[in-house]
Amino acid sequence: MPAIETDPPASVTHRPRGLPMLPDALALRLEDCDTLPSLPSAVLRVLELSRCPEASTSDYAAAIEPDPALTLRVMALANSAFYSRQAGEVHQCQDAVGRLGTDATTAAALSFGLRDLEVPDRFWHRALTAATAARELARRLCPEAASRLFTAALLQDVGILALVALEGEAYASRLECLVQHPELAVAEREAYGCDHARVGAWLARDWGASLDLARLIADSHGPLTADDPQRLCLRLSGRVADAHLADDASLAFAKLGQLLERFGDLEGLPSLSLERLLGEVCDALPAMTELFALTGMPSLDRTQVLLEGKQRLFALTLHLCARLEDHHRQLDALREENDALDIKTRTDPLTGLANRGWLEHSIEQRLQAAERAGQGLALLFIDLDHFKALNDRHGHGVGDTALVNFATALRDLIREGDLAGRYGGEEFLVVLPDQGSDGARRVAARLLRLLEAQPMAEGQDETLYLSASIGIATLETGPFRSAMQMIDAADRQMYRAKRGGRGRVASLKPA
Ligand code: GH3
Ligand code: MG
Ligand code: MG
Repeated sequence: MPAIETDPPASVTHRPRGLPMLPDALALRLEDCDTLPSLPSAVLRVLELSRCPEASTSDYAAAIEPDPALTLRVMALANSAFYSRQAGEVHQCQDAVGRLGTDATTAAALSFGLRDLEVPDRFWHRALTAATAARELARRLCPEAASRLFTAALLQDVGILALVALEGEAYASRLECLVQHPELAVAEREAYGCDHARVGAWLARDWGASLDLARLIADSHGPLTADDPQRLCLRLSGRVADAHLADDASLAFAKLGQLLERFGDLEGLPSLSLERLLGEVCDALPAMTELFALTGMPSLDRTQVLLEGKQRLFALTLHLCARLEDHHRQLDALREENDALDIKTRTDPLTGLANRGWLEHSIEQRLQAAERAGQGLALLFIDLDHFKALNDRHGHGVGDTALVNFATALRDLIREGDLAGRYGGEEFLVVLPDQGSDGARRVAARLLRLLEAQPMAEGQDETLYLSASIGIATLETGPFRSAMQMIDAADRQMYRAKRGGRGRVASLKPA
């Protein structure tokens, strides 16, 4: 069994930190390698999922996980500075997709997938089989590392994809050797001064995968050793995959069994049970029909798929840009507001709603914005009825509770973008951007219905309901030169409602 840790030739000088060396020329070319051949069925599945709004991140992970190139892509992206700000490194595809979200995952997969380079089916079969083998071995020998080793085994040959991408046919013709994996490594060392395990490790690191993962890839093809169960699982996984895919699988497994026997007892695991373990792992490997279903694409119209992929990508990019712009706008607006008044000075301490100062400031701003944009604005002036009597009968504490409960109900009633605040005592304002008289009346009516249905406090031996008188001012009944003018107009309507018998709404008819 040839080992890969041979000394590099003298011309080899390149050393990415923490990884074995790579020849300079190859390292430089790899830096430009930003896309790899992908499994068409995986890209197609992502394309399908992107048409389906209820697809979950697990669906995406299941689609991507059999494909080494896409898996490396999403993991590297998830570990990039942008996505990993608050969290540690991810070690498996599912976590990576979870962190990226479905939009970014789709964008990564579609902008990357479907290169026109052919890779033999055997490559994909080996990758998935080795990954499954590593996970199954690890479940028995070092369960805590099972998903990490699944990923590392899946990616152990990603260097082959990189060499296909860089060298095209010149390298692809060597892939006949895939059946004899060690011979392929020998041929690579002769041609490039290093084998694909190093290339894969270097590429993974260059793309931003964790150093841990890159080291595992670099280490994946070495000789079997007994000292470290994780290393054994990984190094054994490729050999198990080769046996599973061999023409005469039982013979190949028998030979592997013999090799392990010669190898002697592992720490805490005699060779006998190692053989049994091999049998159990073998039972869990994907059946050949499953593997062929993965790579068999009966009637794939590449041009059509590429076209649709590009269109979806374009739509997605627009969508992401729009969202980004929206976030920027919101951020700018928030900054402006923050500059104008500090949060503590904006809220009413009893109810947590906006206080009088913040209400006046916001109405002023919204009034100007509405006029600029030619949009509507409505204001509700709410005064609780006979509140003094409630205080007198039940005490100030009960009155306070009623005010707090009323504020909560009010906050729940309005929509995002609306603003509710306590103007003073038992007087509240609601600001409704882009609303006219009809919309404002609807909100007021909803509030009155809610007050009829929902008690706001408990008296000594009775449940206390509130009623309110509500006045409405809208830009249709304006114009208003200032926030104060608009508040006064709503206040006047509120008094009309009081005079009309309380527990009702009043507004001027729009001009
Ligand atoms: P109307 O129907 O005419 O509005 O009658 P009202 O009693 O609600 O109106 P009035 O303006 O006469 O009295 C308002 C009352 O609201 C008096 C005051 O004690 C009470 N109030 C104001 N602020 C608070 C507060 O923070 N807590 C409590 N418990 N009561 C308050
Ligand atoms: Mg009052
Ligand atoms: Mg009142």
